[in-house]
Amino acid sequence: MPERPFAIAIDGPASSGKGTVARMVARALDFAYVDTGAMYRAVALIGARRGLALDDGPALGAMTDTLAFDLSWADGALKVVVDGEDLSEAIRTEVVGQGASAVAVLPEVRAALLGRQRALAETRPVVMDGRDIGTVVLPDAPVKVFLDARAEIRAARRQLELQSRGVEQPFDEVLADLRARDAQDSQRAAAPLRMADDGIYLDSSALTPRQVAAKVVDIARARGA
Ligand code: C5P
Repeated sequence: MPERPFAIAIDGPASSGKGTVARMVARALDFAYVDTGAMYRAVALIGARRGLALDDGPALGAMTDTLAFDLSWADGALKVVVDGEDLSEAIRTEVVGQGASAVAVLPEVRAALLGRQRALAETRPVVMDGRDIGTVVLPDAPVKVFLDARAEIRAARRQLELQSRGVEQPFDEVLADLRARDAQDSQRAAAPLRMADDGIYLDSSALTPRQVAAKVVDIARARGA
């Protein structure tokens, strides 16, 4: 079998900085960046628009099978196009994030996305972020990082990110939402959020994204990237 392109898996709870770090690492190594959370978000958004219940596994799984995902980069931003529609902005709301976490418990939805996610790592080197990349999607990736940070720090980052998009939400609410999502993501039966047995644990509570990215790039280079 031909050797697979190099892959870096970055998993971790909500607002741990995965996306920012993954983008920096991808840029430094000239790898593609794949945001798998965007796919779950798109499934939740489209499912809700079509009037499907977000706990209807068979219907959402069948719907997901038919969707054409196109993740790309334009002007330094991730563009998420599904069935020809640009959903890059629409999927970034808190409601869609909670919806994504709801559809992500469904084995039918996970199965429908798994093959596509693996395929994205087959043709070129990638940095892929999510919750189950190191454990399920790319368990053979040479670098598997679990990026964590204290809940209060993640909530503060999340609140700033919301503010930058003009959304004001009290800190306690942001923290409660984040904890609810983490609990749902880690306690579900299908591909729960957890570190791979041979994963590398990084706590970003006291580090800048640049510092975390530099660590990941060093590890990847040491392992042949
Ligand atoms: O990372 P992001 O917040 O965009 O992900 C949204 C939701 O999608 C997560 O809370 C999680 O439930 C789900 N997800 C997942 N597996 C992944 C990526 C995201 O279950 N690989």
